[in-house]
Amino acid sequence: MTYEALAEKYLAYVPDADMALLEKAYKFSENAHSAQTRASGEKYFSHCYAVADILLDYKLDQPTVCAALLHDVLEDTPVSTEQFNREFGEEITQLVLGVTKIEHFKFTSVDEETAENWRKMLLATAADVRVILIKLADRLHNMRTLQFLTRERQQSIAEETLTLYAPLAQRLGIFSLKAELEDLSFKAQHPAEYADLSAKLEATSAKRREVLESFRAELESRLAQSGIPHRVLARTKNLYSIYRKMQSQNRPFEEIQDSLGVRIITDTVANCYALVGLVHSHFKPLAGSFTDYIALPKMNLYQSLHTTVVSAAGDIVEVQLRTEEMHRTSEYGIAAHWRYKLGKAGKDAHFDEKINWLRQWIEWLQDLTSPREFLETLRTDMELQQVFVFTPKGEVKAIPKGSTTLDFAFAIHSEIGEHCFGARVNNKMVSLDYELKSGDICEILTRKNSSPRPDWVKIVRTGRSRSRIRRYLREHGLSED
Ligand code: MN
Repeated sequence: MTYEALAEKYLAYVPDADMALLEKAYKFSENAHSAQTRASGEKYFSHCYAVADILLDYKLDQPTVCAALLHDVLEDTPVSTEQFNREFGEEITQLVLGVTKIEHFKFTSVDEETAENWRKMLLATAADVRVILIKLADRLHNMRTLQFLTRERQQSIAEETLTLYAPLAQRLGIFSLKAELEDLSFKAQHPAEYADLSAKLEATSAKRREVLESFRAELESRLAQSGIPHRVLARTKNLYSIYRKMQSQNRPFEEIQDSLGVRIITDTVANCYALVGLVHSHFKPLAGSFTDYIALPKMNLYQSLHTTVVSAAGDIVEVQLRTEEMHRTSEYGIAAHWRYKLGKAGKDAHFDEKINWLRQWIEWLQDLTSPREFLETLRTDMELQQVFVFTPKGEVKAIPKGSTTLDFAFAIHSEIGEHCFGARVNNKMVSLDYELKSGDICEILTRKNSSPRPDWVKIVRTGRSRSRIRRYLREHGLSED
């Protein structure tokens, strides 16, 4: 835990960087926290160091790493915001303020405190997405060191991690972080099941490796003849996702179809399609298993081709195909985009466009004034999966799974939602509570004198539509059914 070790890690990806700022942040934080210790008995600064170290794994820029070192200074030490700003300037101050909690005494209930702290952090994220990356790294280190807290604290922190932080990491496409948060929460909440499951997984791993290796050899021999550059990777396991499958299907571990998977990484998009063609010509795909997330990326930027095929030995194997760049984005999500800034390639021109959904979603959340409603919407919105629906003009919109035509109307524009009286899906008239599926073409019919009715609250699924309708009803003196 030395300044030199951090600096070396940073210089490994930005070779000729000026390191003065990082050194200053290191010393300032170490000094400011010198009187504090953690529950583990270690120096408090070890936590700040660890958070910075996690963000260095993601190869983030120097202001973010500095802010990580300093992230608890304003919350936990006597240093004032003014003094901090003089030392480190506006950019780092705003990042640290974004992750600083509001003082405890300002709240009358736990719900209110949780809701307002999330609201504050998300607003700061809308202005600068690096705020959420620091917060996630902070939570990851706290989860890694959870064993030093009381059982009760462990449970409540694990619960919040599982319902809010992990889904958020998933939404942002940072899969490695999401998987670790989930597994650590699972371990804290159900230690016996966790131990049992990891032992079982370990016991079957030899067999799985064997099946995978033989499929891989088979695959490689086919692909080698094509001359297309590629590498094949095995996929890693997420204990919690297996556990969740067991719960939702109400089946023991032995009966869970634990799908085996490989990834094929190549150089260009055209080669992804060429390779999936080769895969399908040698291995029979399962009907309906092919999904093209290259043409239709997920909201969290994820892109890949997915298909499920049968090996010569009769095993079912999931295959994902992607370019190197897509692979990086799928592992690091939005965090990958700060790496472009560092390189000679310059910024990703479409970055702002790509994270607009996040800003928009945060904006919608601000409409929810009651703490309970805010937290509920936050949780449910993040749990929902998405489907892709087309407008008649061929524009594609990602909306939460389960959304109705009325939700779609509100997703286009709140004006459209408020004046909606019907919808046509794939050229057929449908009702406002019709549930949309991926690939549907949906045309919203509006009328000037049409307006929201109290029963609409029950028709919509997303927090955004619900809050818009409630606001309209309030403003027009109408009450919900
Ligand atoms: Mn912290």
